[in-house]
Amino acid sequence: MLESHEPTGQSDAESQPVDYRSWYFNRRIPQIRYVLALTILLYCLFAAIDLFYADGDIRTQAVLLHGVVLPVVLLVMLGMTLNKKVHRAFRPLLMFFPVLAVSVNLYLYLDPELFILYKTELYFIIIWTFALSGLLLKDALFSGLISILLILAASLLQDLAPISQTLHYLAISTAFTFGLITAYLTERLGEQIYIQHSTLKRAATTDNLTSLWNRYKIESLLDTELARAERYQTALSVIMIDIDHFKRVNDEYGHLTGDQLLRDFAALLLESFRSVDHIGRFGGEEFLIVMPSTDLNSAYLAANNCMKSINAASLIPRVAVTASFGVTAYHHGETKYRLLQRVDETLYTSKRNGRNQITIGE
Ligand code: GH3
Ligand code: MG
Ligand code: MG
Repeated sequence: MLESHEPTGQSDAESQPVDYRSWYFNRRIPQIRYVLALTILLYCLFAAIDLFYADGDIRTQAVLLHGVVLPVVLLVMLGMTLNKKVHRAFRPLLMFFPVLAVSVNLYLYLDPELFILYKTELYFIIIWTFALSGLLLKDALFSGLISILLILAASLLQDLAPISQTLHYLAISTAFTFGLITAYLTERLGEQIYIQHSTLKRAATTDNLTSLWNRYKIESLLDTELARAERYQTALSVIMIDIDHFKRVNDEYGHLTGDQLLRDFAALLLESFRSVDHIGRFGGEEFLIVMPSTDLNSAYLAANNCMKSINAASLIPRVAVTASFGVTAYHHGETKYRLLQRVDETLYTSKRNGRNQITIGE
């Protein structure tokens, strides 16, 4: 099963790994909506034809089933596509609908003469199940096979002329085969789109050296958390961390060692902070931590723990790697730029005062 690959250890509700098939099905919901609306229209037309042409014995039932029962079920499904909470129940109902439509047809037209006249609808229903309904291949196969079994059972009861019988079976097999191929190819295409979508999403949001969020993503997560903090009047803190004298590491040990240090430093940050905190690479050797529901004091304690871990770790053998910290809390009503400016100023106070320390920006 395909899954989206998100950077590990960071929280982002919208990008939790999702099952490919659910992703694909949800993507098709708007398309399904149009198909359902069109099918309602077609059944209403069918009911109108029944009204004028159907046999007297079955006219009322045909009009009722085609003009009321089936459209109402379709309408309920259409309503369900608009409410995310009921999507789970929608899928089985979508599988059930073609079976219901087949049953209605077989019930109304069991008489051989009528069967011959109306069996075309059965082929359309099979194609609808596979190619138009938006059902996933395995769901379509399950639903389609039940429909076909019902049709075959009813066909055996009919005393049709051999030529009608043969053409009927040929038409069912054709509808099934073409439907199946269409469903298979559509699903394969969806799979490729999903892979490209995941790859692009990852490339657009992740820093490829450290696998932390990149600048764009961490700022957009900050936007989201600021909006949440403003709306629910909750606390929010940010920490800016900059590795001390990183240029020296590059100059003395080379860029590759510098890169490795950045990777190890990032791993250490992921270990230090909670999974609900967002960690991003803000610049070269500068990192931003966004801490939802965290007041200034708690953020300071978290920064202190992180600084201790950095000092205790031997990120480069026999070299003391340290970092400077700026910590500040969001003041309700202020802009993101003001908050980032303050945390940057506090970080540079730590630098000016001798590095390897934390400054709090009130
Ligand atoms: P300070 O203690 O004042 O922060 O000094 P510093 O040397 O850490 O800071 P400075 O801004 O002078 O240098 C940062 C260096 O980081 C310069 C740049 O070449 C290097 N750098 C930025 N991105 C990368 C990267 O992806 N890999 C490596 N190896 N180095 C990088
Ligand atoms: Mg630095
Ligand atoms: Mg820097």
